[in-house]
Amino acid sequence: MTTTSLDRKIDTRLKEHDARYTRGRRLVVTTLAGSDGPKSAGELHADIGSTIPLSSLYRSLAVLEESGVLVPHFTKLGVARYELAEWLQGHHHHLVCLHCGAVEDLALPQSYEERVRELVEEIGSTVSFTPVNHAFEIEGICSRCA
Ligand SMILES: [Zn+2]
Ligand SMILES: [Zn+2]
Repeated sequence: MTTTSLDRKIDTRLKEHDARYTRGRRLVVTTLAGSDGPKSAGELHADIGSTIPLSSLYRSLAVLEESGVLVPHFTKLGVARYELAEWLQGHHHHLVCLHCGAVEDLALPQSYEERVRELVEEIGSTVSFTPVNHAFEIEGICSRCA
């Protein structure tokens, strides 16, 4: 998705929530759109630089989350990281490094995704639960920590 169409969608969504798509919010979105995984407030602040004060960054994250533009991702290490919601970023999963805590996006090829969906359907039917979506994470050791 191009940044322009992404920005247009987000601008519309924010208006519906009586919020403005400020420069700071755009920077958060652009940084996340170019990222290979969810980012914490601290990581975003390091990437964006001090042009946006940390307090206004936290406010932007809150507004973007309330409007459904961003979703938080939590790991066992307890750090909240943010990413663009699935309706903007597309369906994907996560790789979580148990050593350094890094979280990376994992988009599966269509054939793998179909197998996962079948398995999820099968599991659902054994527990009388109707799956509508799924998300999983693979925990392990990343290439930098291996
Ligand atoms: Zn690691
Ligand atoms: Zn999937």
